Amino acid sequence: MFYFRTVTVSPSIPERIGRLKELSYNLWFSWHPEALELFRRMDEPKWEELNHNPVKMLLQVNNDSLQRAAADPDYLALYDKVLADLDRYMNADTWFKNKYPHLADKPIAYFSAEFGLHESLPIYSGGLGVLAGDHCKAASDIGLPLVGVGLLYKQGYFTQRINREGWQEAHYPFQNYNEMPVKPALNEEGREIIIPVELPGRTVHLKVWQVQVGRIKIYLMDADITLNNDHDRQLTAQLYGGDKDTRISQEMLLGIGGVRALRQLGIHPVAWHINEGHAAFLCLERLQELVQAGVPLATAREAVRANTLFTTHTPVPAGHDVFDADKVDYYLNRYYGALGVDRNGFMSFGWDSRKNNFNMTILAMNFAAYCNGVSKLHGEVSRKMFHYLYEHIPIEEVPIFSVTNGIHTLTWLSKELAELFNAYLSPGWTSRICDANLWQSIDNIPDEELWDVHRSLKKKAIYFFRESVRKHKYRNQEPAEHIAEVDEYLNPEAFTIGFARRFATYKRATLLFRDMERLARLFSDPERPVQIIFAGKAHPADRPGQDLIKRIYEISQQEPFRGKIIFIENYDMNVARHMVQGVDMWLNTPRWPMEASGTSGMKAATNGVINCSVLDGWWPEGYNGENGYAVGRETGYRSDEEQDRDDAYHLYSLLEEQIIPAYYDQDNGYPRRWIKMMKNCIKTIAPAFSTERMVKEYTDRFYSEAVRRGEQFASNHFHVASQVQDFKRYMKDNWHHVAVKHVDANAVKGKELKAGETLELAADVYLGPIAPDNVVVEVVHGCEGDHTLVGIKATPLKVAGQKGEGIYHYRGGFTLDQGTCGFTVRIRPEHPLFATKFELPLASWAHNF
Ligand SMILES: *Cc1c(COP(=O)(O)O)cnc(C)c1O
Repeated sequence: MFYFRTVTVSPSIPERIGRLKELSYNLWFSWHPEALELFRRMDEPKWEELNHNPVKMLLQVNNDSLQRAAADPDYLALYDKVLADLDRYMNADTWFKNKYPHLADKPIAYFSAEFGLHESLPIYSGGLGVLAGDHCKAASDIGLPLVGVGLLYKQGYFTQRINREGWQEAHYPFQNYNEMPVKPALNEEGREIIIPVELPGRTVHLKVWQVQVGRIKIYLMDADITLNNDHDRQLTAQLYGGDKDTRISQEMLLGIGGVRALRQLGIHPVAWHINEGHAAFLCLERLQELVQAGVPLATAREAVRANTLFTTHTPVPAGHDVFDADKVDYYLNRYYGALGVDRNGFMSFGWDSRKNNFNMTILAMNFAAYCNGVSKLHGEVSRKMFHYLYEHIPIEEVPIFSVTNGIHTLTWLSKELAELFNAYLSPGWTSRICDANLWQSIDNIPDEELWDVHRSLKKKAIYFFRESVRKHKYRNQEPAEHIAEVDEYLNPEAFTIGFARRFATYKRATLLFRDMERLARLFSDPERPVQIIFAGKAHPADRPGQDLIKRIYEISQQEPFRGKIIFIENYDMNVARHMVQGVDMWLNTPRWPMEASGTSGMKAATNGVINCSVLDGWWPEGYNGENGYAVGRETGYRSDEEQDRDDAYHLYSLLEEQIIPAYYDQDNGYPRRWIKMMKNCIKTIAPAFSTERMVKEYTDRFYSEAVRRGEQFASNHFHVASQVQDFKRYMKDNWHHVAVKHVDANAVKGKELKAGETLELAADVYLGPIAPDNVVVEVVHGCEGDHTLVGIKATPLKVAGQKGEGIYHYRGGFTLDQGTCGFTVRIRPEHPLFATKFELPLASWAHNF
């Protein structure tokens, strides 16, 4: 091979439309269809061929098209409007600036292994990435000074093709960064940034890139540079590729490299958000920075913890990233010395004593004062899953909270519906999306208008699906008559179901195929035609997931399903958009309770597409009986087999008895009942499940608190962090003394209790050397359920005297709710600087009384 240098040569853009280039590098375009329209109009076939990549479009569009656009008054009018909109957006007053003026310029770091912003930037695999992308877009909208940190993958996640046998093939095309909406990041002196990260026996260098997302930036690191050897250049080639060595290396590059990149950029975050365990190594680097600056390790731990938030995204135990001890030794032993801990001390940062491995989720939980799951149910499941780390406290009080996911509404809402909303919702609705009142006016949209828009979207989607299938068959060299047949595929008047998600087995993509005869009957009714579109990728290492795809593909080739069950290749944000905007019903059949949240159903609902879903993830919070359908029961089963059977049969009867009849109950072509449900669905789901609501919630509950505590802990040379750490150590060392000695609950005995009545109670407790100020003694009460208390409330008792050395008498009253109640007394440590009640998860409980 010979050496050559590459340069990128772009056409010269006429000055009149010169800002197209700036527009092409701001992902703001991804939620402004009019901005994308400017690129599409230049050359529509090219625009489709380039998968809607505006940067590539400007490089490849021919000069004539550019000149024509610059001379076309309609084009120029749109251009002027879009750029005026962009300028207005960039300079607008924001929610955050108004509410938290003192925090306006204090960056909050958001680390994630993937970001799903647009199909032109393929560095996401699924829900986690799209959520991260939507999080950043909403942060920009509300003016939150968020800074994203991630990796730039040369080959991204794979491109999916289905071969003639129905097997998924994974392709890894190389991305050319010069043709993507990313730019090299520059330091304060205007130079490109290279970050060193030590891996065993060598240093890997990372080049830092930046992506502009409205007002905020995401920094992405790439190892594919000539400073690295060939092996290391591949480290950031693929998202979730390779083996355990690749995974731990990538996670080191992300966590450790990410902190260093921010420092090089002169960015000093005041709060840190770890989005899923992959990024948890950022804690190690922050710890090392402090230790090197002379802060004792234990104090540094408190300081790091004080302003860190961790979001966990999976209720499936196998979904958590873990490494064997020898991997940790091999890759991270450098940190033992740098932090001044021995091997055991280091392992304890993330050790899972049940499974005997190092768990990234546990690492993150240990270093984050705030921790949350992504739906109420997922919060509950996570509290159960990690209860063993908090043995002294009830499951309900395990300090893992929940913030339910949302979607970036304008990214997912169709342009056509947005225009309808412009006419019927109050002006400025796009900047008040989480205001539920605003959405009441959905009822003012005439049925006919809503349905006509929906039908046109469905038609548009069907053209897109047919085109995709045609390309697929053509590539697989199917006979010409098969390819021609595609024109007859999918009926724009038929009831259309969409199912698209990662093909993880727990999502049960083939649940509907359990009883093929019953399904064939459903699909053979000429009066009430039904069709289903499937899409989704299985991880290349997940053979059972690939089997599911093959099964669906095979069924789609058989009668009576041919042309009615369609598998669309290469599920990405573009396919997702067509699906959630263009089908009638969105089907979701995870095995309860394994779906953390799910967000595609929110995208569908915002477009008036009715959800039919297991009550898992977000759906128990979204479903109200009038805005969609619920499949199955909200409970575990003795076996997966039993659960699958039950859910499948429930789904069939729902379809046969309720869903299909409701859809086909039409009055002059307008299904009134269905349209009413669509309106209920948009009205109730769009505001609550928007990332606008979600990011505001993160801000109010966690970011603002984390910033405050972080600054407080660091102030005065980490004096507060050191105080809190001394307090925790003292309490841990002396907690064995603490005991509830005696509870006097005679007031309750033999008495008929009425709801709302106050009961008096007294307790003697032994605190040993601990002062009463440092603990809370409380009555814990709730309903009896499953050998424990549920719906727990705690009412503090007051010191009413000292009965001798270390023994205190407490009293107080509490009120019971109706029903079978239980109560007891416990003691827990308390400090005004604790982030949450069980920041120090110790408690001592009363015995027999
Ligand atoms: C929204 C989205 C997902 C996530 O969907 P779930 O409902 O969480 O499974 C995955 N992939 C793409 C391309 C998406 O747009």
